[in-house]
Amino acid sequence: MARKPTLSPTKITTYLACPVKYRWTYIDSRGKFYLRAKSYYSFGSSLHRVLERFHDSNDTGVTTTDEVMTAYEESWIDAGFPSAEAMAEAFSEGKEILQRHVEEQFIRPREAKTVFVERQLRYDMGEFALIGRIDRMDEYPDGTLEVVDYKSGRQGVEQDEVQNDLAMSCYQLLVKRKYPEQKVQATIIALRTRDSATASLEEKTLNEFESSVHQLGLEMLNRDYEDLTPVKKPLCERCDFLPLCKKHPEFEG
Ligand code: SF4
Repeated sequence: MARKPTLSPTKITTYLACPVKYRWTYIDSRGKFYLRAKSYYSFGSSLHRVLERFHDSNDTGVTTTDEVMTAYEESWIDAGFPSAEAMAEAFSEGKEILQRHVEEQFIRPREAKTVFVERQLRYDMGEFALIGRIDRMDEYPDGTLEVVDYKSGRQGVEQDEVQNDLAMSCYQLLVKRKYPEQKVQATIIALRTRDSATASLEEKTLNEFESSVHQLGLEMLNRDYEDLTPVKKPLCERCDFLPLCKKHPEFEG
């Protein structure tokens, strides 16, 4: 039996930004020759790896500030930085971020307990499955489940940004369908500034969101990507696939 296709928040976001980009990233293997390492991915992944270990109750080797710093050095990804100086600057900023994060946990212990870290959830939506990798899920004493998402690039976050964030809505849908009896909320932590904001989708909104994802998913899966014409947009300037799109006779730019 053929495996059911999967859609993730990243795939959906890419498609909504540009269906041609979605083609080169996920459908047409020629795209992979144009992908370039990005410093912000390396920075974010390095921090995520350490935070995963710090909050994983099964991993007792990364609990103190010193252990966190050692784990950070071991986890550092140096791909995509334009220079050694830029990398050293990012590395030291990451150290400060992690130090603050760890200290805060000791000063103000969280009321919620971590249920899991870095886990992929899956929800069967008929023609495809929605999947999403959750950075951390906590549970409060009253049974409320909280999806926690770390953002390493943002300078802050507001509640309406969480409320309207596609990935956070997908995560809430995935968690709610897996744990239907429990209240679910989502929190974004902006690691650079330690700002955080929380929002929760009501059941009606979640149902409407589910049906929009289903409709969009069918469009994404059934579209003829060969016939797409690339359309010039601001995103093109920093897109890895610009050289490919420039080959299209109707692409202006
Ligand atoms: S260069 Fe522009 S049109 Fe082409 S894939 Fe990237 S964003 Fe889309």
